Amino acid sequence: MAGEPQADCLFCKIVSGDVPATVVRETETVVAFRDINPQAPTHILVIPRVHHPDAASLAAAEPAVAADVLREAGEIAAAENVDGSGYRIVFNTGSGAGQTVFHAHAHLLGGRGLQWPPG
Ligand code: 5GP
Repeated sequence: MAGEPQADCLFCKIVSGDVPATVVRETETVVAFRDINPQAPTHILVIPRVHHPDAASLAAAEPAVAADVLREAGEIAAAENVDGSGYRIVFNTGSGAGQTVFHAHAHLLGGRGLQWPPG
């Protein structure tokens, strides 16, 4: 059921602590941890504790939690000192757009020049 932990979901296992991660911030609703395969000097995944398959599904079902994800991403950008030079928050949605983990997550990318449009 949407919102409930999924036994086969990698990010639900990171939320529960069953899979280790380098956690940089935790709140009542959000967990943020460093990406295992960073694409920028700062590459942090900001995820809701609740399971929804993508960002739009999260926002539709639990808009306050979606807002928490965005707010925390901004606060982490400031804590990582990438807010001055600029950073990007990305929600890959669907396998055609590069989504590989179907638990909503924001990529926070910063610390280098970022090209537009992304590939
Ligand atoms: P997506 O491709 O779904 O937008 O993003 C999934 C991200 O999760 C990828 O950037 C990938 O490197 C990251 N990732 C996959 N497995 C793990 C893991 O076990 N630990 C951490 N910290 N990141 C992971």
